[in-house]
Amino acid sequence: MERIAVLTSGGDAPGMNAGLLAAVKVATARGIEVLGIERGYDGAIDGHLRALSRRAGGGLVPVGELERAGGRGGTLLGSSRCPRFFEPAGRATAAGRLRDAGVEGLLVLGGNGSLTGAHLLATETGFPVVGIPASIDNDLGCTSDAIGVDSALNTIIEACDRISDTARSHHRAFVVEVMGRDSGYLAMVSAVATAADAALLPEQAMTEAEVVDEVERLVRAGASPERDKPRILIIKAEGVPVPATRLVREVNERVRDIDVDVRATVLGHIVRGGNPTAHDRLLAGRFAFAAVGALLEGTTDVMVAWRPAVDGGTATPDSSVRLFSLAEVLAETARLLDGTSPVTQARLQRMKAAQGVLGL
Ligand code: ADP
Repeated sequence: MERIAVLTSGGDAPGMNAGLLAAVKVATARGIEVLGIERGYDGAIDGHLRALSRRAGGGLVPVGELERAGGRGGTLLGSSRCPRFFEPAGRATAAGRLRDAGVEGLLVLGGNGSLTGAHLLATETGFPVVGIPASIDNDLGCTSDAIGVDSALNTIIEACDRISDTARSHHRAFVVEVMGRDSGYLAMVSAVATAADAALLPEQAMTEAEVVDEVERLVRAGASPERDKPRILIIKAEGVPVPATRLVREVNERVRDIDVDVRATVLGHIVRGGNPTAHDRLLAGRFAFAAVGALLEGTTDVMVAWRPAVDGGTATPDSSVRLFSLAEVLAETARLLDGTSPVTQARLQRMKAAQGVLGL
């Protein structure tokens, strides 16, 4: 193999640039040229490729722009949602474009959707593909961690610490909504890390009425004088079926008889941005090392996974990283999201145990 390509797709995640830089460095060290594909699968279909390593003095070096971007959030290559890639014709065009450009293997950094596309590309066209999990939601199967999760958690924790400062000063309760349409991982971990009163997760499958009842209960319990609680903080995942503003309006109407004011803050895209943490940069580097190695050895239709919580996969030179077939990853991701995976069951059990302690 002499030339590979890399793309970032779907929701951007802090650490994608670190992953790109690491992939280019690892490949360069092995004498392999790396092309970057702009704007995810759109760029693959339209042939928007650019060199991420350049020949200099007989060898290859990473381009300076990428070196500068390595510690920044977002993705230097751009990302996209690409409807054409849902069609076999779009995927066939992409494979043809890559082959025409002399590309012999592809690294895809992205989440569930992007890796579904990667799996179809590999199986339908035979183009060699290795996936690298990058998704702040941590909703991908077989891996215990994905690029961007740790950075997103740290951003949430910082925001909650700031909100807690003002909540304590005014005897307020806050419902903070964090990203996570199908997965409550960010809400669950940040609730524990900020010592919030509770986390509301999509996996708990509560109805809208149950959510309102539960928040009223939490606010009343937290506001009772004998508890002497300086602030009430409830972290709600986006996927819980009542918008934060409506939830707070309904709860405020119900708790008029007590001296507490409930406010909502939706963190939204703030959680996606920002420079990656040390952990995400390290994860990106170790994933890239294993992924480039796998591609060069002729492995395809797989994803690199960090300290898997499930059995299986094959070893890589990095003892913390294993390779799982994309088919297995996607099947386990579906189980994670529909709640049948033992990993989701264990998370919910842990959350149940934590809820009693959090509310104290
Ligand atoms: P993420 O990778 O963050 O989950 P998306 O779900 O938006 O983000 O997927 C990103 C892109 O991956 C989509 O716009 C599409 O191009 C491709 N993709 C997603 N799902 C599929 C699918 N079922 N078949 C083919 N391509 C897909």
